[in-house]
Amino acid sequence: MSLFQEDFTATSAAVRVRFGAGVRHAVDEEMDRLGLSRALILTTPQQADTGAKFAERLGARAVGVFSGAAMHTPVPVSEDATAMAIRLGADCVVAVGGGSTTGLGKAIALRTDLPQIVVPTTYAGSEATGILGQTEAGRKTTITTPKVQPEVILYDAELVRSLPVGMTVTSALNAMAHAAEGLYAQNRSPISSLMALEGLRAFHAALPRVLDNPDDLKARGETLYGAWLCGTVLGQVGMALHHKLCHTLGGSFDLPHAETHAVILPHAIAYNQQAAAGELAPVATIFGGPAPGKALHDFATRMKAPLALRDLGLREADLDRAADIASENPYWNPAPVNRAGLRRLLQAAWAGDAPASWDPAT
Ligand code: NAD
Repeated sequence: MSLFQEDFTATSAAVRVRFGAGVRHAVDEEMDRLGLSRALILTTPQQADTGAKFAERLGARAVGVFSGAAMHTPVPVSEDATAMAIRLGADCVVAVGGGSTTGLGKAIALRTDLPQIVVPTTYAGSEATGILGQTEAGRKTTITTPKVQPEVILYDAELVRSLPVGMTVTSALNAMAHAAEGLYAQNRSPISSLMALEGLRAFHAALPRVLDNPDDLKARGETLYGAWLCGTVLGQVGMALHHKLCHTLGGSFDLPHAETHAVILPHAIAYNQQAAAGELAPVATIFGGPAPGKALHDFATRMKAPLALRDLGLREADLDRAADIASENPYWNPAPVNRAGLRRLLQAAWAGDAPASWDPAT
Protein backbone atom coordinates (compact mmCIF):
# COMPACT_ATOMS: atom_id res chain seq x y z
CA MET A 1 0.00 0.00 0.00
CA SER A 2 1.41 3.41 -0.97
CA LEU A 3 1.62 6.11 1.67
CA PHE A 4 1.03 8.81 -0.97
CA GLN A 5 -1.11 11.78 0.11
CA GLU A 6 -2.51 14.31 -2.36
CA ASP A 7 -1.64 17.29 -0.14
CA PHE A 8 1.13 17.49 2.39
CA THR A 9 3.92 19.65 3.77
CA ALA A 10 7.09 17.93 5.00
CA THR A 11 9.73 19.77 7.01
CA SER A 12 12.97 18.08 8.06
CA ALA A 13 15.50 19.50 10.51
CA ALA A 14 19.17 19.75 9.49
CA VAL A 15 20.63 17.24 11.90
CA ARG A 16 23.79 15.17 11.50
CA VAL A 17 23.26 11.61 12.75
CA ARG A 18 25.92 8.94 13.18
CA PHE A 19 25.35 5.33 14.19
CA GLY A 20 27.74 2.65 15.36
CA ALA A 21 29.16 0.79 18.32
CA GLY A 22 31.93 3.05 19.67
CA VAL A 23 30.75 6.19 17.82
CA ARG A 24 30.60 8.02 21.19
CA HIS A 25 34.36 8.40 20.79
CA ALA A 26 33.75 10.68 17.78
CA VAL A 27 32.61 13.65 19.90
CA ASP A 28 36.02 15.32 19.34
CA GLU A 29 35.76 14.85 15.55
CA GLU A 30 32.29 16.34 15.58
CA MET A 31 33.47 19.29 17.65
CA ASP A 32 36.34 19.89 15.22
CA ARG A 33 33.95 19.73 12.27
CA LEU A 34 31.84 22.50 13.85
CA GLY A 35 34.88 24.54 14.93
CA LEU A 36 34.16 23.94 18.65
CA SER A 37 36.73 23.42 21.38
CA ARG A 38 35.10 23.90 24.82
CA ALA A 39 32.42 21.35 25.73
CA LEU A 40 30.29 21.28 28.87
CA ILE A 41 29.30 17.65 29.42
CA LEU A 42 25.83 16.96 30.85
CA THR A 43 24.50 13.87 32.64
CA THR A 44 22.12 12.87 35.42
CA PRO A 45 23.64 12.15 38.86
CA GLN A 46 23.19 8.42 38.08
CA GLN A 47 25.34 8.70 34.93
CA ALA A 48 28.04 10.96 36.40
CA ASP A 49 30.67 8.23 35.84
CA THR A 50 29.85 8.10 32.16
CA GLY A 51 30.22 11.88 32.02
CA ALA A 52 33.61 11.66 33.71
CA LYS A 53 34.77 9.16 31.05
CA PHE A 54 33.71 11.54 28.29
CA ALA A 55 35.60 14.37 30.01
CA GLU A 56 38.71 12.24 30.34
CA ARG A 57 38.62 11.27 26.69
CA LEU A 58 38.01 14.84 25.52
CA GLY A 59 40.87 16.19 27.65
CA ALA A 60 41.28 19.95 27.21
CA ARG A 61 38.23 20.03 24.93
CA ALA A 62 36.03 19.40 28.02
CA VAL A 63 35.70 22.48 30.24
CA GLY A 64 33.42 20.83 32.81
CA VAL A 65 30.83 18.22 33.72
CA PHE A 66 27.38 19.12 35.06
CA SER A 67 25.74 15.99 36.50
CA GLY A 68 22.49 17.45 37.79
CA ALA A 69 20.04 16.71 34.95
CA ALA A 70 16.60 15.75 36.30
CA MET A 71 13.28 14.47 34.95
CA HIS A 72 11.01 17.09 33.29
CA THR A 73 13.79 19.72 33.05
CA PRO A 74 13.23 21.84 36.20
CA VAL A 75 13.96 25.49 35.40
CA PRO A 76 16.23 26.09 38.45
CA VAL A 77 18.49 23.22 37.30
CA SER A 78 18.61 24.67 33.77
CA GLU A 79 19.55 28.08 35.19
CA ASP A 80 22.37 26.61 37.26
CA ALA A 81 23.74 24.64 34.31
CA THR A 82 23.47 27.67 32.01
CA ALA A 83 25.36 29.81 34.53
CA MET A 84 28.08 27.14 34.67
CA ALA A 85 28.31 27.02 30.85
CA ILE A 86 28.70 30.80 30.71
CA ARG A 87 31.18 30.91 33.61
CA LEU A 88 33.37 28.24 31.99
CA GLY A 89 33.18 29.81 28.53
CA ALA A 90 31.70 26.64 27.00
CA ASP A 91 31.09 26.80 23.25
CA CYS A 92 28.90 23.68 23.09
CA VAL A 93 27.11 21.13 25.27
CA VAL A 94 27.54 17.37 25.04
CA ALA A 95 24.46 15.67 26.54
CA VAL A 96 25.04 12.02 27.43
CA GLY A 97 21.90 10.27 28.66
CA GLY A 98 18.15 9.89 28.21
CA GLY A 99 15.43 12.45 27.66
CA SER A 100 16.14 14.24 30.94
CA THR A 101 19.75 15.00 30.03
CA THR A 102 18.87 15.91 26.45
CA GLY A 103 16.23 18.24 27.87
CA LEU A 104 18.85 20.03 29.95
CA GLY A 105 21.04 20.52 26.86
CA LYS A 106 18.06 21.98 25.03
CA ALA A 107 17.27 24.29 27.96
CA ILE A 108 20.86 25.62 27.84
CA ALA A 109 20.63 26.03 24.05
CA LEU A 110 17.39 27.98 24.46
CA ARG A 111 19.14 30.43 26.77
CA THR A 112 22.54 30.64 25.04
CA ASP A 113 22.24 29.30 21.46
CA LEU A 114 25.11 26.90 22.19
CA PRO A 115 25.26 23.97 19.74
CA GLN A 116 24.36 20.52 21.11
CA ILE A 117 25.94 17.15 20.52
CA VAL A 118 23.70 14.44 21.98
CA VAL A 119 24.71 10.89 22.82
CA PRO A 120 21.42 9.14 23.70
CA THR A 121 21.36 6.25 26.15
CA THR A 122 17.60 5.56 26.10
CA TYR A 123 15.01 5.39 23.31
CA ALA A 124 12.98 8.47 24.39
CA GLY A 125 13.74 10.29 21.13
CA SER A 126 14.08 13.85 22.48
CA GLU A 127 17.41 14.25 20.65
CA ALA A 128 15.54 14.24 17.32
CA THR A 129 13.05 17.02 18.15
CA GLY A 130 12.90 20.77 18.53
CA ILE A 131 10.61 20.34 21.54
CA LEU A 132 11.51 21.28 25.11
CA GLY A 133 9.28 20.48 28.08
CA GLN A 134 10.20 22.40 31.26
CA THR A 135 8.78 22.47 34.78
CA GLU A 136 8.62 25.40 37.13
CA ALA A 137 6.68 25.56 40.41
CA GLY A 138 4.97 22.26 39.57
CA ARG A 139 3.77 23.40 36.13
CA LYS A 140 5.00 21.81 32.91
CA THR A 141 5.14 23.91 29.76
CA THR A 142 6.33 22.95 26.29
CA ILE A 143 8.16 25.08 23.74
CA THR A 144 8.78 24.08 20.13
CA THR A 145 11.56 26.01 18.40
CA PRO A 146 14.45 25.19 16.05
CA LYS A 147 16.69 26.86 18.69
CA VAL A 148 16.58 23.70 20.80
CA GLN A 149 17.00 21.15 17.98
CA PRO A 150 20.31 19.35 18.57
CA GLU A 151 22.88 19.68 15.75
CA VAL A 152 24.59 16.28 16.07
CA ILE A 153 23.36 12.90 17.39
CA LEU A 154 25.72 9.98 18.04
CA TYR A 155 23.83 6.70 18.48
CA ASP A 156 26.15 4.19 20.15
CA ALA A 157 24.73 0.72 20.87
CA GLU A 158 27.44 0.12 23.49
CA LEU A 159 26.03 2.90 25.68
CA VAL A 160 22.42 1.74 25.58
CA ARG A 161 23.53 -1.77 26.56
CA SER A 162 23.62 -0.70 30.23
CA LEU A 163 19.94 0.30 30.18
CA PRO A 164 18.24 -2.19 32.54
CA VAL A 165 15.81 -4.56 30.82
CA GLY A 166 12.70 -3.06 32.46
CA MET A 167 13.64 0.45 31.32
CA THR A 168 14.59 -0.89 27.91
CA VAL A 169 11.03 -2.12 27.41
CA THR A 170 9.23 0.96 28.74
CA SER A 171 11.55 3.33 26.87
CA ALA A 172 10.96 1.38 23.65
CA LEU A 173 7.18 1.62 24.09
CA ASN A 174 7.59 5.36 24.79
CA ALA A 175 9.35 5.68 21.41
CA MET A 176 6.79 3.50 19.64
CA ALA A 177 4.02 5.79 20.91
CA HIS A 178 5.52 8.70 18.93
CA ALA A 179 5.36 6.61 15.75
CA ALA A 180 1.90 5.15 16.38
CA GLU A 181 0.39 8.61 16.97
CA GLY A 182 2.40 10.04 14.08
CA LEU A 183 0.58 7.71 11.69
CA TYR A 184 -2.72 9.54 12.17
CA ALA A 185 -1.38 13.05 12.81
CA GLN A 186 -3.23 15.76 10.89
CA ASN A 187 0.06 17.16 9.56
CA ARG A 188 1.63 13.80 8.69
CA SER A 189 3.43 13.36 5.39
CA PRO A 190 4.38 10.23 3.41
CA ILE A 191 7.90 10.64 4.82
CA SER A 192 6.80 10.82 8.47
CA SER A 193 4.56 7.78 7.90
CA LEU A 194 7.42 5.84 6.28
CA MET A 195 9.63 6.62 9.26
CA ALA A 196 6.88 5.72 11.73
CA LEU A 197 6.28 2.30 10.17
CA GLU A 198 9.99 1.55 9.85
CA GLY A 199 10.54 2.60 13.48
CA LEU A 200 7.75 0.28 14.65
CA ARG A 201 9.16 -2.55 12.52
CA ALA A 202 12.62 -2.03 14.03
CA PHE A 203 11.30 -2.31 17.61
CA HIS A 204 9.11 -5.28 16.73
CA ALA A 205 12.09 -7.10 15.25
CA ALA A 206 14.81 -6.12 17.71
CA LEU A 207 13.23 -5.67 21.15
CA PRO A 208 12.59 -9.41 21.71
CA ARG A 209 16.23 -10.07 20.75
CA VAL A 210 17.43 -7.47 23.27
CA LEU A 211 15.34 -9.13 25.98
CA ASP A 212 16.84 -12.52 25.10
CA ASN A 213 20.32 -11.05 25.26
CA PRO A 214 20.69 -7.45 26.54
CA ASP A 215 24.32 -7.47 25.31
CA ASP A 216 23.35 -8.18 21.69
CA LEU A 217 24.87 -5.06 20.13
CA LYS A 218 23.28 -5.58 16.74
CA ALA A 219 19.80 -5.77 18.31
CA ARG A 220 20.62 -2.78 20.57
CA GLY A 221 21.69 -0.86 17.47
CA GLU A 222 18.46 -1.72 15.70
CA THR A 223 16.41 -0.48 18.66
CA LEU A 224 18.35 2.80 18.57
CA TYR A 225 17.55 2.99 14.85
CA GLY A 226 13.89 2.63 15.84
CA ALA A 227 14.31 5.34 18.48
CA TRP A 228 15.81 7.75 15.93
CA LEU A 229 12.96 7.17 13.46
CA CYS A 230 10.22 7.43 16.10
CA GLY A 231 11.82 10.53 17.65
CA THR A 232 12.10 12.15 14.22
CA VAL A 233 8.38 11.55 13.69
CA LEU A 234 7.67 13.23 17.05
CA GLY A 235 9.71 16.22 15.87
CA GLN A 236 7.79 16.53 12.60
CA VAL A 237 4.11 16.04 13.43
CA GLY A 238 1.54 16.77 16.13
CA MET A 239 0.62 14.24 18.79
CA ALA A 240 -2.90 13.35 19.98
CA LEU A 241 -4.83 11.54 22.71
CA HIS A 242 -2.07 9.20 23.83
CA HIS A 243 0.37 12.02 24.54
CA LYS A 244 -2.35 14.15 26.17
CA LEU A 245 -3.19 11.31 28.58
CA CYS A 246 0.48 10.72 29.40
CA HIS A 247 1.10 14.44 30.00
CA THR A 248 -1.94 14.50 32.31
CA LEU A 249 -0.84 11.45 34.28
CA GLY A 250 2.77 12.59 34.50
CA GLY A 251 2.04 16.28 35.15
CA SER A 252 -0.88 16.01 37.61
CA PHE A 253 -0.28 12.62 39.25
CA ASP A 254 3.49 12.40 39.03
CA LEU A 255 3.45 9.02 37.30
CA PRO A 256 6.78 7.91 35.77
CA HIS A 257 7.25 8.97 32.14
CA ALA A 258 8.20 5.89 30.12
CA GLU A 259 6.13 3.43 32.18
CA THR A 260 3.02 5.56 31.73
CA HIS A 261 3.55 5.64 27.95
CA ALA A 262 3.95 1.86 28.01
CA VAL A 263 0.64 1.28 29.81
CA ILE A 264 -1.44 3.82 27.87
CA LEU A 265 -0.27 3.08 24.31
CA PRO A 266 -2.48 0.02 23.50
CA HIS A 267 -5.54 1.72 25.01
CA ALA A 268 -5.08 5.02 23.16
CA ILE A 269 -4.54 3.21 19.89
CA ALA A 270 -7.64 1.06 20.49
CA TYR A 271 -9.60 4.27 21.16
CA ASN A 272 -8.56 5.59 17.75
CA GLN A 273 -8.57 2.39 15.73
CA GLN A 274 -12.00 2.91 14.14
CA ALA A 275 -11.50 6.59 13.38
CA ALA A 276 -8.03 6.00 11.90
CA ALA A 277 -8.60 2.47 10.59
CA GLY A 278 -6.61 2.89 7.36
CA GLU A 279 -3.62 4.62 8.99
CA LEU A 280 -3.41 2.09 11.83
CA ALA A 281 -3.96 -1.07 9.75
CA PRO A 282 -0.19 -1.53 9.17
CA VAL A 283 0.34 -1.54 12.97
CA ALA A 284 -1.84 -4.65 13.23
CA THR A 285 0.11 -6.18 10.34
CA ILE A 286 3.50 -5.47 11.96
CA PHE A 287 2.50 -6.68 15.42
CA GLY A 288 0.38 -9.63 14.32
CA GLY A 289 -3.25 -8.35 14.57
CA PRO A 290 -6.14 -8.70 14.76
CA ALA A 291 -6.66 -5.04 15.79
CA PRO A 292 -3.80 -2.54 16.33
CA GLY A 293 -4.58 -1.82 20.03
CA LYS A 294 -4.83 -5.49 20.92
CA ALA A 295 -1.72 -6.30 18.86
CA LEU A 296 0.27 -3.69 20.80
CA HIS A 297 -1.12 -4.98 24.09
CA ASP A 298 -0.08 -8.53 23.19
CA PHE A 299 3.41 -7.29 22.26
CA ALA A 300 3.71 -5.31 25.53
CA THR A 301 2.58 -8.39 27.46
CA ARG A 302 5.17 -10.57 25.71
CA MET A 303 7.86 -7.96 26.49
CA LYS A 304 6.78 -8.05 30.18
CA ALA A 305 5.96 -4.33 30.15
CA PRO A 306 3.91 -2.83 32.97
CA LEU A 307 0.25 -3.10 31.95
CA ALA A 308 -1.67 -1.38 34.77
CA LEU A 309 -1.69 2.22 36.02
CA ARG A 310 -2.44 0.90 39.50
CA ASP A 311 1.00 -0.73 39.50
CA LEU A 312 2.53 2.72 38.81
CA GLY A 313 0.95 4.17 41.94
CA LEU A 314 -2.27 5.72 40.58
CA ARG A 315 -5.26 5.35 42.92
CA GLU A 316 -8.62 4.30 41.52
CA ALA A 317 -10.07 7.37 43.27
CA ASP A 318 -7.91 9.56 40.98
CA LEU A 319 -9.46 8.27 37.74
CA ASP A 320 -12.34 10.76 37.72
CA ARG A 321 -10.03 13.73 38.13
CA ALA A 322 -7.65 12.33 35.49
CA ALA A 323 -10.57 12.00 33.04
CA ASP A 324 -11.65 15.59 33.84
CA ILE A 325 -8.17 17.01 33.23
CA ALA A 326 -7.50 14.96 30.10
CA SER A 327 -10.77 16.02 28.51
CA GLU A 328 -10.09 19.73 29.11
CA ASN A 329 -8.30 21.45 26.18
CA PRO A 330 -7.84 18.15 24.34
CA TYR A 331 -5.23 17.84 21.58
CA TRP A 332 -6.68 17.20 18.13
CA ASN A 333 -7.53 13.49 17.91
CA PRO A 334 -8.98 11.32 15.13
CA ALA A 335 -11.77 9.92 17.36
CA PRO A 336 -13.92 12.41 19.26
CA VAL A 337 -12.57 12.93 22.77
CA ASN A 338 -15.29 12.82 25.39
CA ARG A 339 -15.06 12.45 29.12
CA ALA A 340 -17.08 9.23 29.32
CA GLY A 341 -14.85 7.57 26.72
CA LEU A 342 -11.67 8.66 28.51
CA ARG A 343 -13.01 7.48 31.84
CA ARG A 344 -13.61 3.99 30.37
CA LEU A 345 -10.18 3.99 28.78
CA LEU A 346 -8.54 4.98 32.06
CA GLN A 347 -10.44 2.34 34.01
CA ALA A 348 -9.20 -0.41 31.68
CA ALA A 349 -5.62 0.96 31.77
CA TRP A 350 -5.76 1.26 35.56
CA ALA A 351 -6.86 -2.34 35.98
CA GLY A 352 -4.46 -3.71 33.34
CA ASP A 353 -7.25 -5.09 31.14
CA ALA A 354 -6.72 -5.71 27.44
CA PRO A 355 -7.97 -2.72 25.44
CA ALA A 356 -11.58 -3.13 24.44
CA SER A 357 -12.64 -2.90 20.81
CA TRP A 358 -15.14 -0.14 21.27
CA ASP A 359 -16.52 2.93 19.63
CA PRO A 360 -15.57 5.86 21.88
CA ALA A 361 -18.43 7.96 20.45
CA THR A 362 -21.02 5.73 22.12
P1 NAD B 1 15.65 9.72 31.82
O1 NAD B 1 16.52 10.48 30.92
O2 NAD B 1 14.98 10.46 32.93
O3 NAD B 1 16.48 8.51 32.44
C1 NAD B 1 15.93 7.73 33.49
C2 NAD B 1 17.06 7.19 34.37
O4 NAD B 1 17.79 6.21 33.65
C3 NAD B 1 18.07 8.27 34.76
O5 NAD B 1 18.48 8.03 36.08
C4 NAD B 1 19.22 8.02 33.80
O6 NAD B 1 20.45 8.45 34.30
C5 NAD B 1 19.18 6.52 33.67
N1 NAD B 1 19.73 6.01 32.41
C6 NAD B 1 19.55 6.52 31.16
N2 NAD B 1 20.21 5.77 30.28
C7 NAD B 1 20.82 4.77 30.94
C8 NAD B 1 21.63 3.67 30.54
N3 NAD B 1 21.92 3.42 29.26
N4 NAD B 1 22.10 2.86 31.50
C9 NAD B 1 21.78 3.05 32.81
N5 NAD B 1 20.99 4.07 33.24
C10 NAD B 1 20.52 4.92 32.30
O7 NAD B 1 14.48 8.93 31.05
P2 NAD B 1 13.90 9.05 29.57
O8 NAD B 1 12.69 8.20 29.58
O9 NAD B 1 14.94 8.83 28.55
O10 NAD B 1 13.48 10.58 29.45
C11 NAD B 1 12.32 11.08 30.05
C12 NAD B 1 12.28 12.59 29.93
O11 NAD B 1 12.46 12.97 28.58
C13 NAD B 1 10.95 13.17 30.37
O12 NAD B 1 11.19 14.36 31.09
C14 NAD B 1 10.25 13.48 29.05
O13 NAD B 1 9.30 14.51 29.17
C15 NAD B 1 11.42 13.84 28.18
N6 NAD B 1 11.18 13.64 26.73
C16 NAD B 1 11.19 14.74 25.94
C17 NAD B 1 11.00 14.62 24.58
C18 NAD B 1 11.07 15.84 23.69
O14 NAD B 1 11.02 15.74 22.49
N7 NAD B 1 11.16 17.02 24.28
C19 NAD B 1 10.80 13.35 24.02
C20 NAD B 1 10.78 12.24 24.84
C21 NAD B 1 10.99 12.39 26.22
